[in-house]
Amino acid sequence: MNCSQLLEETESGFCTEGVSTPGLDAQVLLAHCIGRDRQFLYAYPEKELSSAEVKRFRSLVARRMQGEPVAYVTGEKEFWSLAFEVTPDVLIPRPDTEILVEEVLKLFGREEVRILEIGTGSGAISVALASQREQVSITATDCSLEALAVAGRNALNNNVSEKISFLCGDLFHPAVGTFDIIVSNPPYISEKEFNLLAPEVREYEPRRALVVGPDGTEFHRRLAQGARQFLAEAGWLAMELGAGQRNALEKILHENDYCDITFRRDYAGIDRVVLARKKG
Ligand code: SAM
Ligand code: GLN
Repeated sequence: MNCSQLLEETESGFCTEGVSTPGLDAQVLLAHCIGRDRQFLYAYPEKELSSAEVKRFRSLVARRMQGEPVAYVTGEKEFWSLAFEVTPDVLIPRPDTEILVEEVLKLFGREEVRILEIGTGSGAISVALASQREQVSITATDCSLEALAVAGRNALNNNVSEKISFLCGDLFHPAVGTFDIIVSNPPYISEKEFNLLAPEVREYEPRRALVVGPDGTEFHRRLAQGARQFLAEAGWLAMELGAGQRNALEKILHENDYCDITFRRDYAGIDRVVLARKKG
């Protein structure tokens, strides 16, 4: 069978199963299976596959059909145009989180920047930031040792491992020193919202990367409280947030004596990132 026949067959199977992006998923899986990129599939639709390749491809398709996210099936996800390894121990980096990276980059001055990331998961944010700047030193923490192992490999594979120290522990516990910027994409799904998530998120992604408590903003509060002790004077706290959390976040940041509180929306118009400065 050739690529185009396999793609057609798979896309229609995915459609029947209710997969939301059937054509794209079929292409990503096939490209991964033959060790090429998606452009190759457009350039060589007639390329014949060996029966071993077809067999391997069909086993990946079967996993997707069961509901497993494409990124866990392939073991990789692109973020900030960089390649990241992902395993079920880490949240699959989301395109929205690139907005957080963009906003943090805007805060960089000319001197060396000291950054603390809480809850690094796959390392997406820290690796993206480190890839953009020579003079940067990053401490990235997570409470999951398994996630940190993945993050460490992602830093190595993207040639930024000398700029990032990975530490394991709860919130600020492993952090030592003072930072110019503290950044986090914390878990912010409330317990109620968790049941409404798509099954492919709810059943496959690590629960502790997503769910926080009855409110959804409990982790933000702990970040806002704890960050003060580790931020340099006039240092910035940058956090991702979920739909409908803006007012709660504004309140939390005011209560904890931050100023210059600004929000940035994602492409769907939802307030997705908040920046706040430590008052002197
Ligand atoms: N930074 C990654 C990203 O943006 O794709 C992952 C973000 S994920 C939403 C949140 C991360 O926080 C997970 O990796 C989870 O293991 C970690 N985490 C959850 N509770 C934590 C805690 N109490 N202390 C440190 N990390 C925690
Ligand atoms: N944006 C993720 C989702 O909707 C949630 C990530 C998080 O809790 N930080 O699945």
